Amino acid sequence: MTNRAFNFNAGPAALPLEVLQQAQQEFIDYAGAGMSIMEMSHRSSIFEEVNDGAQSLLRELFDIPGSYKILFLQGGASTQFAMIPMNLLTPGKVASFVHTGSWAEKAYKEAKLFGETAIAATSEAHKFNRIPSLSDIQIPANAAYLHITSNETIEGTQFQAFPKTGNVTLIGDMSSDILSRPVDVSQFGLIYAGAQKNLGPSGVTIVIAREDLVSDSPKTIPTMLRYDTHVKNNSLYNTPPSFAVYLVGLMLKWVQAKGGVAAIEQYNRDKTKLIYDTIDQSGGFYRGFADADSRSLMNITFRLGSEELEKQFVKESELQGFVGLKGHRSVGGLRASTYNAVPLESCKALAEFMADFQKRNG
Ligand SMILES: *Cc1c(COP(=O)(O)O)cnc(C)c1O
Repeated sequence: MTNRAFNFNAGPAALPLEVLQQAQQEFIDYAGAGMSIMEMSHRSSIFEEVNDGAQSLLRELFDIPGSYKILFLQGGASTQFAMIPMNLLTPGKVASFVHTGSWAEKAYKEAKLFGETAIAATSEAHKFNRIPSLSDIQIPANAAYLHITSNETIEGTQFQAFPKTGNVTLIGDMSSDILSRPVDVSQFGLIYAGAQKNLGPSGVTIVIAREDLVSDSPKTIPTMLRYDTHVKNNSLYNTPPSFAVYLVGLMLKWVQAKGGVAAIEQYNRDKTKLIYDTIDQSGGFYRGFADADSRSLMNITFRLGSEELEKQFVKESELQGFVGLKGHRSVGGLRASTYNAVPLESCKALAEFMADFQKRNG
């Protein structure tokens, strides 16, 4: 019997047991090739099938229009913080940001290295416990793009709807909520996500971009940092993170088998309801960090009456097989990350543990 933890890690995060088991089964001999997927050329027809298969299944599941390119890159979402302004912040234009918290801040700071930036809206005055109201977003007239962080992983807030930006390109960092709910991709010029929260293991970053934005990058940028390099070469310009791409493919098949993205969203709502209800019905013993209408389906952030009690909560939870419930070091408190692959059973167990902990300490 495998002993699987109740894994609430923020990233890298839980993967479905079925996906791990399939990878295990194929680990030594992939598709009768007599070698692991890790041991074969990325120019082989077997790997090309893996690469193309993952792309086309992502296109199907996330309903990505044909006029968009899908890239599998390296360097994490953090490299996109720089690649986006390098490629898309043209002289005389302004990179504008909705400042929602820790990850938006990092994207914003990186863009400052390359040109003019502006904050189009911020919830800093509320310690980032909410997403700014869409009507408060002020996009500068000469904006190159508006960048949003669809889900703030650390604060536990999530856009419930996306700003309408007219002619201005909307860019979304969806690292922590890609494929957790249906999205109208055509509202965005570019979407990016590190895979290690909702899509697979670390090592590969997904970029989904409207073709015209990524097919003719400035020639002054290093080859590897130009989008058009990767577009022209189907993400095979240099050696790709082949095993990570393969696992993303398995994850996508798992999402498909679950009924697709809309079914996954319902599953995520059922999962998080168990925990948010426990918080809301605790009479103030547990205090949710995020405003109710900005709450994330991916990262549930909450606090207890004292840091001492929070420490005790973490300690006792670990003894009972829970992993990853300590909040991010920058904000403290507690956090349960409930990405796509986290099973309902883990959330049920956590809700029960929380109720029991309250009974003993309330
Ligand atoms: C985790 C995360 C990142 C950073 O991803 P890396 O792949 O580690 O660079 C960026 N943005 C958001 C919203 C994240 O959750």
